Amino acid sequence: MNSDLSFCLFCDIAAGKIPCDQVHSDENFLAFRDISPQAPTHILVIPRQHIGGLTELNQDQAAMAGQLLVLASSIAAKEKLDAPGYRFVINCGQDGGQTVGHLHLHILGGRALGWPPG
Ligand code: AMP
Ligand code: ZN
Repeated sequence: MNSDLSFCLFCDIAAGKIPCDQVHSDENFLAFRDISPQAPTHILVIPRQHIGGLTELNQDQAAMAGQLLVLASSIAAKEKLDAPGYRFVINCGQDGGQTVGHLHLHILGGRALGWPPG
């Protein structure tokens, strides 16, 4: 995770300061293709609001978290992943493999995904 607390990569992407391969944009959420895809389809969905990660989620954000899931499933459907199937991943903290300190959900699909994760 970036140690400069004044900098957040995904806030800068959400603000349009850093370009992205955008898949969806609305008032509250942005979705874009991962710069280092781990599957044929690899999309990140983020809230525009800065939330550091799952450990920072609170009851006030319950509706937002639900909307994030509903939006991500609709994006997966638009990407034609429904029939073959897909996976959502939210990495959290060091052991969870989180590298960007802004809540984001990975949509992974387009190939059979292994389990358990490494
Ligand atoms: P995580 O490891 O769960 O924190 O996921 C962060 C993801 O952000 C990784 O899959 C990176 O490949 C991806 N990523 C990093 N920088 C960018 C960027 N500028 N545009 C799109 N995806 C990025
Ligand atoms: Zn942020």
